[in-house]
Amino acid sequence: MSDNENQKPEDMSSDEERREIEEFNRKHHKFVEFTKKVGVKDECPCCGQSVNKIFLGYRSQMPVVPVSTLGKYYPAYAGACTNCGFVSTFFAPVVDKKIQEDESSE
Ligand SMILES: [Zn+2]
Repeated sequence: MSDNENQKPEDMSSDEERREIEEFNRKHHKFVEFTKKVGVKDECPCCGQSVNKIFLGYRSQMPVVPVSTLGKYYPAYAGACTNCGFVSTFFAPVVDKKIQEDESSE
């Protein structure tokens, strides 16, 4: 999904759509802060390029790491390298815990 698909013109968005887009953008912002804080390297682990990553997700839907074919999964945050497409995936409970710790210390 490109960023453009998350943003509709103002008059086409219902309140719920707008809230979901704001929440998605908030998650993206917090995730970027998290990666800087814990020292995630800018370089892609696959191609070595220092490029921006595409934050994956759509509105309230976020990536997951499947555990089985039965639908069990781990919640995740993920970003795709804009050079080679390699997807870096982060275990959401760890990310969310760090974000919460930061928010409560602000
Ligand atoms: Zn790459």
